[in-house]
Amino acid sequence: MFEKIGKNTSMLRTDERVCGTIYLIEEGGKRLIIDSGDGDAEIGFAPDICILTHGHFDHTSGVEENWPCVLLHPAEAAFKGPYLKIPKNAAPNPMKPLIFGSHLLEFFHTPGHTRGSICILDRKTGILFSGDTAFAGGGYGRTDLGGNEKEMEESLGLISKINYKLLCPGHGDIEKREE
Ligand SMILES: [Zn+2]
Repeated sequence: MFEKIGKNTSMLRTDERVCGTIYLIEEGGKRLIIDSGDGDAEIGFAPDICILTHGHFDHTSGVEENWPCVLLHPAEAAFKGPYLKIPKNAAPNPMKPLIFGSHLLEFFHTPGHTRGSICILDRKTGILFSGDTAFAGGGYGRTDLGGNEKEMEESLGLISKINYKLLCPGHGDIEKREE
């Protein structure tokens, strides 16, 4: 069950195996999801757009072959790290601002966990979808899966400057930013 977290925005926790979270933005009959879970979750529809925060299997395995638009940072498809599962229908994310209904999504390349990890800011709701780069409570993703610590530090520095209100990571709790 998708649970509402903001305007037009909800989340689906997939607690079965690795507790990945799928996010949904839905407006005017169109659906955009961020990450697809490990394949266990019942998404129940083919989203118009699927944006992947990175290529790890627990974020990408839910992608179905008939999904029309699946976007992944180009560095991820060329990346040779463990636990990757790149969907055949994934296309390079142009990383340009994306207008989706009344939402404006901005993309940030935040390597460190993997080469092609990204964060997505929804300007309308102030939600930052941070994948496995930044977690609630100041945590951050593992850097020993083909990423590196130095890039992670730089990416976390970049994230700290982004004007977001709610952090929505790929695992665990979501977190309001303190004023
Ligand atoms: Zn990951």
